[in-house]
Amino acid sequence: MRFPLALTTKIASHIIKHKVLRTPKFAMVLQLEPLHTCNLTCTGCGRIREYSTSLKDMVPLDQCLAAAVECEAPMVSICGGEPLIYPHIEALVDGLREQGRIIYICTNGMFMRKKMREYMAANWTAAMERYLGQLVTEDLVSEKEAQQIRNADGAAREKATIRPSRWMYWNVHVDGLEYTHDLIVEREGVFKECIAAIRMAKILGFQVATNTTVYKETDVKELEEMFKYLSWLNVDGHTISPGYDYDAAKKDMVKRLGKDPKAFFLTREMTRDKFKDIERWGKAFTIFGTPVYQEFLAGKRELTCTAWAIPTYNVRGWKAPCYLMTDGHYPSYGEMLSKVNWEKYGVVDGVARDPRCENCMVHCGYDPSGALGTNYQRGDNWKNMKYNFGARPKRYTHGNEVKAFTGVSIGKGHLAEAKAAVNQELGGRKSAYARGGNALATEHMTHETHAEMPSTGGGCGTGNSDRDTSQREELLEKISSTRRL
Ligand code: SF4
Ligand code: SF4
Repeated sequence: MRFPLALTTKIASHIIKHKVLRTPKFAMVLQLEPLHTCNLTCTGCGRIREYSTSLKDMVPLDQCLAAAVECEAPMVSICGGEPLIYPHIEALVDGLREQGRIIYICTNGMFMRKKMREYMAANWTAAMERYLGQLVTEDLVSEKEAQQIRNADGAAREKATIRPSRWMYWNVHVDGLEYTHDLIVEREGVFKECIAAIRMAKILGFQVATNTTVYKETDVKELEEMFKYLSWLNVDGHTISPGYDYDAAKKDMVKRLGKDPKAFFLTREMTRDKFKDIERWGKAFTIFGTPVYQEFLAGKRELTCTAWAIPTYNVRGWKAPCYLMTDGHYPSYGEMLSKVNWEKYGVVDGVARDPRCENCMVHCGYDPSGALGTNYQRGDNWKNMKYNFGARPKRYTHGNEVKAFTGVSIGKGHLAEAKAAVNQELGGRKSAYARGGNALATEHMTHETHAEMPSTGGGCGTGNSDRDTSQREELLEKISSTRRL
């Protein structure tokens, strides 16, 4: 099966229960952001910018657990920021498990191996030696770390840890192969660390998923290579979602100066072009979601946004109307459902009810629409069932031939090269980097200023999109022009 039976059954029964009760709006997945602090400063991350004034704030553990109880979503995606920085992450995972929920820990992967070493130390028995031996042989754990695991003291053995469970997935943020991913996260070595963490997690019996945002500049051939590689690593599934930009100033330029919107936006048309192969990928790889959403992405049908089904809860409360846009925060899910005028959002029959929704086709707005039967067409239920209850796609056995390490991390300075390149004069005009004296990097490191930076839809840390996206575009332009595949 594409998704373990118990988990598929849990989600299906949740939908059936609410259909029988005729609940007009209900939650399917809770996006829980216990904090917005992050160890990375990715290009285009909306979260660390939108919430730049509350990066030190955290949602108390009991409030996190209460939010899950309140919205009753069967699945909770713990995101942020970087959730492994949250000091109560282990207790949060345990608490959500006690509530019977399916848990995704959406992480940039940088602290995963540390958390898994802690798990091994706390649960060390001689029977684990063969796994530890393999981890050392494959350079995923050093000999020194292995000794620390074997000789764990009382404190390490008593520590609460994150354990493998069929109810829990590590959900690792991967936006491409090494060169692209490291550019987007603006740090060399991150892709390499993510892959090491994924390999270690699979050896220890964890379930691992990945989460990818597709940008205007994303090369879809590279994505396919990435899926082959991840399949070969035995990754259990993938979420993929289009990012998109909305910028009021640019929109105004389009209107006043008659510029082509395609120069700025990942329009619906462009998204459909990027996702034209999504159904084929869905057959070849374990792509999560519904085939109905895939048809929508491929341009074969329309769906109506159901952002209320994937609500976001964070330090300011329930964020409305969706993960991407913020028009307000509410103290309870019920109040958000009743006070937000949901008819104001989304695109219906090709007409955007809100200009910010015009080009949005993101997973958190439309994947639940496919599962909930919005815009139902005959055969949809069968299609969804066949997809999720059907056989899981086979592992791609030639993944070792994929040139995944396309950037040569650490030491070669490919990130510095790309930044230097975008700092140069671009076609007679100065780049945003040059204009800002490369302020971007400094600003990222401090997190203190409220940057005039962008955002894109979908994936870890993306959000409010009403920002200048020129710096990100220039960096990503560079990815396209110097792609080494
Ligand atoms: S996108 Fe995710 S990993 Fe990157 S800075 Fe934002 S929260 Fe952190
Ligand atoms: S931005 Fe997208 S997810 Fe949010 S309300 Fe608009 S259409 Fe829905």
